[in-house]
Amino acid sequence: MDLTAQAILEPLLTTFSVEVIRYLIAVFLVITAIFFITKRGRSRNLHTEPATAEQKRREVFYSILTALVFSVNGLYVYFGMQGGWALVYEDINLYPAWYLPICLIAMIIAHDAYFYWTHRLIHHRFLFRWVHHTHHRSIKPTAWAAYAFAPGEAFINGLFVPIWVTFVPTYEFVAFFFLAHMILRNAIGHSGYELFPIRMPGSKAFGWVTNVFHHDLHHRDIGENNFGLYFTWWDRWMGTEHPEYTQIVEKQKQARLEIPAS
Ligand SMILES: [Zn+2]
Ligand SMILES: [Zn+2]
Repeated sequence: MDLTAQAILEPLLTTFSVEVIRYLIAVFLVITAIFFITKRGRSRNLHTEPATAEQKRREVFYSILTALVFSVNGLYVYFGMQGGWALVYEDINLYPAWYLPICLIAMIIAHDAYFYWTHRLIHHRFLFRWVHHTHHRSIKPTAWAAYAFAPGEAFINGLFVPIWVTFVPTYEFVAFFFLAHMILRNAIGHSGYELFPIRMPGSKAFGWVTNVFHHDLHHRDIGENNFGLYFTWWDRWMGTEHPEYTQIVEKQKQARLEIPAS
């Protein structure tokens, strides 16, 4: 295996560029969606005041730094594919077609569990200040905060894919779609605009999916509840769902009001 400076720098810079572009596209899509929803006169803003330029600059800075940390983690996958210890495959026919969606769904569900438990861990008082405080500096986050993590938190978050591909054969485009979904959900979840149905928390059909309000509550209370990422499962199983999450929706249903902003 070639481990010269150039052999390391080239994939590092390529992955870094892809991560940054992916981040910018996701934020652009979310901001565009908010623009059109607002234009149609629908009040879905969860925050009463716009974020300051200083907050947005900080969110962008740490998100770019996270992209760099993810790229370092990505080197494990890159060299692992050459060395045979990362089970990312390029031949789509290696496994049956049904394996592709199953693998993607399993990867998203596993990541949700990984995120929930590592998120709870970094809220521990011994870790919070050094690892997770940076992310919670945004009490009312914007989409730019999608990757606004301190390097330690970025490293923990970025470990999921290397661990997954060490054990589970994953087609390269499945990994690509997983990462696209991850950044998009992160950008949506921090946007401060309800881009999902407002009544979702109490819905029998879709109550298992977190909406924007779910993670927004986590930031408002600096992380006492709502540790989950994509789904409400773990918070409901572990009793960590914010008490207001479904109550406010019930009130809203009765009063036909929008979710109260803060
Ligand atoms: Zn957050
Ligand atoms: Zn948190």
